[in-house]
Amino acid sequence: MDKAAALARRLAAGEALTDGELLTLLEQRTAESAEILRRAAVETARKTFGNQVYLRGLIEFTNYCKNDCYYCGIRRSNRKAERYRLSPEVILACCDAGYDLGFRTFVLQGGEDGWWTDDKLCNLIAAIKKNHPDCAVTLSIGERSRDSYAALKQAGADRYLLRHETANDAHYAHLHPPELRLEHRIRCLYDLKELGYQVGAGMMVGSPGQTLSNLVEDLRFLQELQPHMVGMGPFLHHGDTPFANEPDGSADLTLYLLSMVRLLLPKVLLPATTALGTALEGGRERGILHGANVVMPNLSPADVRRKYLLYHDKLATGAESANGLNQLRTNLQAIGYEAVVARGDAPTL
Ligand code: SAH
Repeated sequence: MDKAAALARRLAAGEALTDGELLTLLEQRTAESAEILRRAAVETARKTFGNQVYLRGLIEFTNYCKNDCYYCGIRRSNRKAERYRLSPEVILACCDAGYDLGFRTFVLQGGEDGWWTDDKLCNLIAAIKKNHPDCAVTLSIGERSRDSYAALKQAGADRYLLRHETANDAHYAHLHPPELRLEHRIRCLYDLKELGYQVGAGMMVGSPGQTLSNLVEDLRFLQELQPHMVGMGPFLHHGDTPFANEPDGSADLTLYLLSMVRLLLPKVLLPATTALGTALEGGRERGILHGANVVMPNLSPADVRRKYLLYHDKLATGAESANGLNQLRTNLQAIGYEAVVARGDAPTL
């Protein structure tokens, strides 16, 4: 048996591996080690979630952004991005339509857009919660002050997604301009946790400059933070960014890491992301079959979906849209899973 397969067996059995062993498991990845991790991850997910897959309705409500992350298509320096901002009325209508389709979580994601002050966001969150008291509201709008996070929580927000992107300082600096600091992003994550949010962290796989030992650092960071959710997808280049010519991250390595995260954080909410679905035909179903248990179809209006372009060829039609929801349900059924109408809170809460 190869070395990685032996390590995969130990991880699958619940043994704690050293940093060096985790690195070897990544470096010497084989079809056999991947299959051992995959089977154990699926079994682990089943223990907590059965055959249920949670749905989140993603509303990409603004692509204005004051930040200039080198990888991201909606960075402020991308003059070619067609900017848009949904009105509160349109966002509420998206939630109503999503509710009728069976969504019980709405994820409001966007760039760091100064137009959306705390007051405006609080009014929006309160209106969503008033219309749909049985739904969870998740925010994914970047770094804000602790006071701002507290106000948004007070207004009714339940969860917050803020990927840490990479847990290594030098790598963080390779991906972001100097005004963005890993230390600050991590502070935000701990603030959000302390304020009582269900929190999601995570990283891109195969982002420029990333080493496999950076990924080990990411796994250790996640074990330390103990987030309720981990969002992970392959890096995909965008032609109008400084990383236009960088190679895309590997979908296979992403699947391998999904299985590893499921084993290291057995009860975590783990989405099969849009980026994975973009990188790989049937990627989201493959994600579920590697230990993921969440999918986040797009509820944004069709005309803006193609403008929220974080990377090239981002999925914007078919099963990615709410209209394709029936197709997604059918695909999940075909692999033995059921997309459920439920808030899908983190099981530890
Ligand atoms: N402004 C919010 C939301 C960012 S978009 C925030 O700061 O959290 C959500 C995620 O998309 C990012 O956290 C990043 O991990 C991912 N992303 C951005 N550009 C990407 C790219 N080119 N390829 C793959 N994922 C990307």
